[in-house]
Amino acid sequence: MFCSSLGMAQEYDIIIKGGHVLDAKNNINQVLDVAIKDGTIAKVESNIAANKANKVIQAKGLFVCPGLIDIHSHNFHGTEPDAYLSNSFTALAPDGFSFRSGVTTIVDVGGAGWKNFRTFKEQTIDRSKTRVLSFLNIIGSGMKGGVIEQNIDDMDPKLTALVAKQYPKLIVGVKLAHYSGFDWTPTERAVEAGRLANIPVMIDFGGSNPELSIETLFMEKLRPGDIFTHAYAHVKGRIPIVDDKGKVRDFAFKAQERGIIFDVGHGGGSFLFEQAIPAMKQGFKPNSISTDLHTGSMNGGMKDIINIMSKFINMNMPLDEVVASTTWNPAKIIKREDLGHLTEGAVADLTILNLRKGTFGFIDTKGKKMKGDQKLECELTIRDGKIVYDLNGISAPLWNE
Ligand SMILES: [Zn+2]
Repeated sequence: MFCSSLGMAQEYDIIIKGGHVLDAKNNINQVLDVAIKDGTIAKVESNIAANKANKVIQAKGLFVCPGLIDIHSHNFHGTEPDAYLSNSFTALAPDGFSFRSGVTTIVDVGGAGWKNFRTFKEQTIDRSKTRVLSFLNIIGSGMKGGVIEQNIDDMDPKLTALVAKQYPKLIVGVKLAHYSGFDWTPTERAVEAGRLANIPVMIDFGGSNPELSIETLFMEKLRPGDIFTHAYAHVKGRIPIVDDKGKVRDFAFKAQERGIIFDVGHGGGSFLFEQAIPAMKQGFKPNSISTDLHTGSMNGGMKDIINIMSKFINMNMPLDEVVASTTWNPAKIIKREDLGHLTEGAVADLTILNLRKGTFGFIDTKGKKMKGDQKLECELTIRDGKIVYDLNGISAPLWNE
């Protein structure tokens, strides 16, 4: 349903009526109307008069949330052959994957290093309608795979931090991934870059033989606010969070209390129900839910961020917490507290989600299935006050009206 007042200057551009608003920052979990004007949230209140807007979107029975923030994705799309996730075919252009799953802010983690960040900016960030942010790889050449990511000589904390500080609105963290030696130097260099630029570090850890202790990583090497991604993975070269008796390791809880951020980073090989289900039963919840989006994950068990959110809903995580884990929590993690909420005056990035009831199945990265009876669907996404995705035309006039 919609109505429009021809040519009249209206108080609001859009009013979303009767939706259940979930806004963790403002402690809102109730049915309210949301009004948008000039790209910002103008009002969140019950019963905003429909005749005050050019467009009214009826959202009864739906959830109105801040635009989702995916803090683990790979979007440095390009045409360099054999370049893994840096200016490559395996990384995905943001707009084709973001809005249709409610995402308005996507964070490429480690695609670019300090040497090729400008290419990433000019090629992807500046050309996307999605807000694209970056964690610079501690490797100057970025996430090009193979031996390039093993080169400690290309891990320069000073230059990484310098480039990060040149683009404070775009570079929100430092990434270390795929290093496989028995050596703390890469971790220490990434953390040093994070310290110099005052931004968090995200670590994709493992692959060392013998193993480096994740307890040491959590309790000594990382700072509170640093991010351990692939939280529910069981990969070679690092012990998993849940031990072989199905118990969450004590130090994982202690690490989370210390402020270490546990991020899902589902991906194509990093999310197992045999880890996540016992962890959730024992109360070990993720701080942030993210995709690890690339061509190797999008058509597997991962699919998209709302599919992962649906997994957590079916593991009995309350919906408001699931939404907080993709909105306000990640905004705080990347120190972008201007995002992830619907405060009056904030940028009007939001999504309308439908929680469907039915018979559904969800797959993990081992190809195992969990059954579920709830599934999120993205109905509509607004970025910067503009409707950028509308699944069922809830914002559109009827063709013959
Ligand atoms: Zn990744």
